[in-house]
Amino acid sequence: MTFIRATDNGANVYCHWFQPMASSGVRHGLTGQVQNMMMEFDSSDKTIKYDFKGKHLVKGETDGSSFPNGGLRATHTAGGYLAIDTSSPIFLRGDTMNIPSVFVSYYGAALDEKTPVLRANEALSSEGTRLLKLLGYDVDALNANIGLEQEIFLIPRDQYYRRPDLQLTGRTVIGKNAPRGQEMCDHYMAPLSSATSALECMQEIQEECWKMGIPLKTRHREVAPNQFEFAPLFGTNTTQIDQNIMVMQVIEEVAARHGLAALLQEKPFNDVNGSGKHNNWSIGTNTGVNLLNPSQVNEASGNDEVFPVVMAAIVAAVDDHGDLMRMAIASPGNDFRLGACEAPPAIVSTYLGDDMTGYLEGFKNGTGGAYNPGTKTLDLGTSSVLPFEVPAEDRNRTSPFPYGGARFEFRAVGSSQNVSMVNTVLNTITAEKFGEFADKIEAGASPQEVAKEALEKHWKVIFNGDNYDLANQEELTAKGVWRIDSGVEAIAALCSDKNIALFEKMEIFNKEECEARAAVLHDHYTGTVEMEALTLIDMINQNIIPSCKSSGVGPVAELTAAAETLKAAVAEIHAAESSYDKAKLARVLRLETMIDIRDTCDAAEAVVPADQWTLATYKELLFLDSHVDAPSGLDMDF
Ligand code: ADP
Ligand code: MG
Repeated sequence: MTFIRATDNGANVYCHWFQPMASSGVRHGLTGQVQNMMMEFDSSDKTIKYDFKGKHLVKGETDGSSFPNGGLRATHTAGGYLAIDTSSPIFLRGDTMNIPSVFVSYYGAALDEKTPVLRANEALSSEGTRLLKLLGYDVDALNANIGLEQEIFLIPRDQYYRRPDLQLTGRTVIGKNAPRGQEMCDHYMAPLSSATSALECMQEIQEECWKMGIPLKTRHREVAPNQFEFAPLFGTNTTQIDQNIMVMQVIEEVAARHGLAALLQEKPFNDVNGSGKHNNWSIGTNTGVNLLNPSQVNEASGNDEVFPVVMAAIVAAVDDHGDLMRMAIASPGNDFRLGACEAPPAIVSTYLGDDMTGYLEGFKNGTGGAYNPGTKTLDLGTSSVLPFEVPAEDRNRTSPFPYGGARFEFRAVGSSQNVSMVNTVLNTITAEKFGEFADKIEAGASPQEVAKEALEKHWKVIFNGDNYDLANQEELTAKGVWRIDSGVEAIAALCSDKNIALFEKMEIFNKEECEARAAVLHDHYTGTVEMEALTLIDMINQNIIPSCKSSGVGPVAELTAAAETLKAAVAEIHAAESSYDKAKLARVLRLETMIDIRDTCDAAEAVVPADQWTLATYKELLFLDSHVDAPSGLDMDF
């Protein structure tokens, strides 16, 4: 065996690389790390040497007491421990060897995003293999595979510096629409032209990612102007989550080198699409069989019942725990996306498609047999294009959780999120159902009976229609499909009796950890809104009112009053008792008060002469393609 030393690759620094709780949207790079040189003082010969021992690799200790912990630590019990996560590879970047790690308290409570995913992976594997064994399919271990599609905006950096709201909060809290938006979807999948720096920037992002072993396979333009997407080859969840966090960091860093600013927040601009991060999810065996791929699983297990039993468990999990799926996507930026016609509504149903729904209907009614996804032939009536085969299933882009052929796609996830909680929930709720099914089979029921009973009970959560249609939304709500419109309420679901019992049973979180996490998420929400409100106050006082005064137009009195209203609302939040109470007030401030005030600001922008307006406009921020600078060195004075 040949050994390659880290120093052979230019690394002489190491760090335990961890993911503090609820860091998305505010923390650069989303990780915590203290970088140490691989260096020791040798007292025997009084020299300094390169040194890095095994004990340095496996464990680190950190004070780290300033990270949000929701009461799990106090300054007098502040020990924090970092331990290597062996499920995700160590990676080199520059002179630093990064060691993916968990971050826990002295008492073993999870203070990070990663620990719960690892616990949920354990639960999925142990309950899943137990169930499969009862179905005659003996596998050693299961793992969840995910692929994360990352949407972003790239905007001109000089204009970004003219927007304190984008700089400090990641989204525009005001801004009149430009005369052009995403009409005709002219940006969507348009050529990545070389006329702007976006293409070179994306190429360099891919290159930087390759160096760390991150295969960012796909790149394209998205629906909104200046919106783009990357997607990697999928892989095991912890590796993908770690890699996605590095992708987000690299995007921000590389954009700056190309005169661009990358926006990862879910809704940087009003009235054009926001950004998501589709979480494609499937369950694989340690031998590489995908349990969500019917032909693979039928062949590998030799039992046609495995696939419908697995599907029944997932359907039951979504129906019982849609509230937790909603909780997992309650990032502050998602407030502005869920329910708008760009991301599915906050009602958690699943799309299976008519073909599979028909098959499960038959299975429920006792028709046996294997599921063989249908196909059909498209003949375009021209000899230039030969007839070709397509799946019998169409796609449904309005469902929050559609089955898309061998995977589910959780479409409502927000672009800035660390998706650890999303995958903790998916694996925990599925593990619980796998366990319940296994219990019943062990107690004497047949797998077919167990799956049939679950499908009957949870059939309502299968919905193949248009989730954007209001009448359909009413119907699903009336049937009792989980619907939580408010992200703040959704976060509180973490602490319901049902959910604490679930997490305790599956050994993911104890009650204290659930409560701490909910408090941290609520504080994260309130902190986000407070930053937005304070930024808006400054913009009103330092930009908008002066512009109105200098040009002698605009609603100055209303603007002055608006700034006072905002200050009072922030003070009211400070005075509230609990994290939950503060977050509830913050939500009203953000989604009611600030939206009304925005109208006043945007009305001012509409009347102030362009040369008197000191903030970058939507026209200046959103249209790289019509702001192409002359290439340097080229004399444009014709
Ligand atoms: P689309 O936009 O059609 O959904 P993309 O190619 O943009 O497709 O992204 C799909 C993502 O899903 C990719 O990251 C891909 O690797 C991932 N993916 C594909 N199959 C699976 C699977 N079985 N399990 C998990 N992720 C998958
Ligand atoms: Mg997709």
